[in-house]
Amino acid sequence: MEITTTAKNRFTLSLSHWHQNDNTRSLPWKGEKDPYKIWLSEIILQQTRAAQGLPYFLAFTHNYPTVSDLATADDADVFRLWQGLGYYNRCKNMLATARIVTSVHNGIFPGTYTQLLTLKGIGPYTAAAIASFAFNEPVAVVDGNVYRVLSRCFGIETPIDSTIGKKIFAELAQQLLPIHDSAAHNQAIMDLGATVCTPSSPKCESCPLANQCVATKSKLIEILPVKIKKIIVKERFFNYIIFQHNDSIWINKRQAGDIWENLHEPFLIETKEPSEVDALLEGNLLTNLYPNNIKLISKSKQKLTHQLINTCFYTMVINDLSHFNIPNGWWVNNSELKKLAFPKTLVSFFKNNLYF
Ligand code: SF4
Repeated sequence: MEITTTAKNRFTLSLSHWHQNDNTRSLPWKGEKDPYKIWLSEIILQQTRAAQGLPYFLAFTHNYPTVSDLATADDADVFRLWQGLGYYNRCKNMLATARIVTSVHNGIFPGTYTQLLTLKGIGPYTAAAIASFAFNEPVAVVDGNVYRVLSRCFGIETPIDSTIGKKIFAELAQQLLPIHDSAAHNQAIMDLGATVCTPSSPKCESCPLANQCVATKSKLIEILPVKIKKIIVKERFFNYIIFQHNDSIWINKRQAGDIWENLHEPFLIETKEPSEVDALLEGNLLTNLYPNNIKLISKSKQKLTHQLINTCFYTMVINDLSHFNIPNGWWVNNSELKKLAFPKTLVSFFKNNLYF
């Protein structure tokens, strides 16, 4: 999509004027020049709202002030700090990248967009953010906020999650970028999308682009930006049996290939539908344990992007370990439990039931 020089200047000048005079969005990583901290903030903010990500950013920069500190950290400590943010692959990739930067690049982040793209977990958006904010490379940063502002302002109905759509928006964002002021422009357009051109009820009356916005004139705000993919949510049913022996409970580490990889959990029986306790116990390892003291403690639901996890929590006291032959896990007491990383739903359960 080609735009005229007049349209480009109008857009960039209006945005720049708003950024200098009316942009009040304040975030601790704004204006940051350290590529490590920019990278941390961007990884934390993927799929996460700024308000939710902020305490994690502060905790990570406090515990690991440099990329070398993060690279040499214990995996379990880092996963524990990440606990509650979800999308644990981000944490795994973050650790891998910290170690590559330290071992291959002497602890110095690569300084160009193209080099940054070679690192694990760094895609076009994150590479552009680091290259632009830390190194002033004139590359456009295109996140969800930018898609929204551009699709509405220029009235583009091509789906933002289609191959052609991604190309159109990336090229348009790049065309609009002022070469000598790219970092400020990138920050401004993202902030405008986050605070003014919001997904619902955008504040068009105070928007610097209102006079040139196609969506307001053509009443397209409600339908822009367009997406083709509807997220299909799979419903799952988790039944956790919390084995208790003296002051310890039995814990297992989740394996690769499913959600919550590398996090911990009690014994899990997953069923295709909600299950009564008798059906739950039939035909599995629990029959050896004479489970007459199993007790339902609580239920919960956790919504992930593509999954809805329905969970039942049971406790079962194990007095005699001679028949206990559940493989792969180990017994942990309360103080050891606090050092392990768990999915959010289990953290809530443990807190509500005074395990920690
Ligand atoms: S005028 Fe409204 S819809 Fe258009 S860019 Fe501004 S906030 Fe978004």
